[in-house]
Amino acid sequence: MATMTDCTLNGAVVDIDAAIDMKDTADSTPDFRCNECNQPVRPHRSGGHVSAHFEHLERNPNCSQSHVAS
Ligand SMILES: [Zn+2]
Repeated sequence: MATMTDCTLNGAVVDIDAAIDMKDTADSTPDFRCNECNQPVRPHRSGGHVSAHFEHLERNPNCSQSHVAS
């Protein structure tokens, strides 16, 4: 399973740590987008055995960065 740790925000690449900081400080979640398919993604913080990563709001089977349902 690919773990997505970068995304695009307003044309700039943002890593997961910066994105979580922005999500915490912004009034609303910034418009994070997948680097590959440009669909909306959201940051998830690390927890348990899962490291911090981005997830697509809607799974995109055409995008290698989108998790495949298992
Ligand atoms: Zn994507």
